[in-house]
Amino acid sequence: MSNYKTETKCIQSGYEPGNGEARVLPIYQSTTFRYTSSEQMGRLFDLEESGYFYTRLQNPTNDAVAAKICDLEGGVAAMLTSSGQAANFYAIMNIVEAGDHIVCASALYGGTYNLYAHTIKKMGVEATFVDPECTQEELDAAFQENTKAVFGETIANPALVVLDLEKFANAAHAHGVPFIVDNTFATPINCRPFEWGADIVTHSTTKYMDGHAACVGGAIVDSGKFDWETHKEKFPGLTTPDETYHGIVYTEKFGKGAYITKATAQLMRDLGSIQSPQNAFLLNIGLETLHLRVPRHCENAVKVAEYLKNHEKVAWVRCPSLPGDKYYDLAQKYMPNGTCGVITFGLKGGRDAAVEMMDRLKMVAIVTHVADARSCVLHPASHTHRQMNDKELVEAGVQPDLIRFSVGIENIEDIIADVEQALR
Ligand SMILES: *Cc1c(COP(=O)(O)O)cnc(C)c1O
Repeated sequence: MSNYKTETKCIQSGYEPGNGEARVLPIYQSTTFRYTSSEQMGRLFDLEESGYFYTRLQNPTNDAVAAKICDLEGGVAAMLTSSGQAANFYAIMNIVEAGDHIVCASALYGGTYNLYAHTIKKMGVEATFVDPECTQEELDAAFQENTKAVFGETIANPALVVLDLEKFANAAHAHGVPFIVDNTFATPINCRPFEWGADIVTHSTTKYMDGHAACVGGAIVDSGKFDWETHKEKFPGLTTPDETYHGIVYTEKFGKGAYITKATAQLMRDLGSIQSPQNAFLLNIGLETLHLRVPRHCENAVKVAEYLKNHEKVAWVRCPSLPGDKYYDLAQKYMPNGTCGVITFGLKGGRDAAVEMMDRLKMVAIVTHVADARSCVLHPASHTHRQMNDKELVEAGVQPDLIRFSVGIENIEDIIADVEQALR
């Protein structure tokens, strides 16, 4: 970790050119890397030596961007993935096997909910979903002998539940398993989950990190704080010989780098969800202004939320940074400088009025996206969460009338004027 402040890390971390080298991180648009000795190439394949040989495993552009995200989160190692979905899949699969179990806060992004509730179940991994507001006892009761991880989102998309990070971290550690946090909505500008006990952080870099809706991507960061060796019997994949690499033991050979090295060496090798170097380059440009954009998103979101709250046609508004919000106190504790640019609201006219209002917006677009510079709206019950039944929707904290409003960084007067004419 560098000693720079967050704003400086956004710009300077991850890439330091040598004398006469490109000032801007170059795009290594190459699948492969040349060696003059076949023996050295062999050592790379055995993980005996570090170096680039094939972009599915590692690429210099991707590594520099991963290093920047790692520094922003205060971790020890990180990797990029092709999407946020791939990041959340790998983060779990790296430490579970068929027959294992995970505990998840139930307020989750729809795709992540499907991944953990249905897809990994077919691979033999079960998930128990707990109400994020459960008591310590209820949370403890969700653990089983075979539980290997706890998962939650800092700010749930789209339920906007602020997770009590310390409560979940304590429960995970009391049961000898890591706490994995999807920090997509808060970003390391507003919250660094490692400071609250999280062990591993994931991101959909598609959102604020890229910030311009230009490329889909993901990242996994390891804090290096979870001691796999102390819980050896639970994590044989990290603490016993890997026969596919001539019997190396990740924790012995790579120490704090064990988790990310294993995810790269096994999961990337076998499943191949890499980010293209071109996308990593664009992501890096987005990261350079993250510290400027995120506060403006948050400021605009609070103003739109205040406007909506006072509007006669609006039934309810959710914005964790707004005094009176159910999660205001947790937000003040974990994210005193702001939460995110996404707010949700419902109209007195219910679901039909929601759809009509959205159709009447002129500048604010209906798109399946959040967290980019442009203001946009989505109706989760008809779009992102449409595979869920009503019970699953309510568990995920998504009311049928909920409009998700991703407030952009346009002039606030223009955003409110558009909402005003649509409501009228
Ligand atoms: C969008 C999102 C994801 C999935 O990311 P993709 O990049 O779309 O695959 C995961 N978690 C959260 C919180 C998200 O908002």
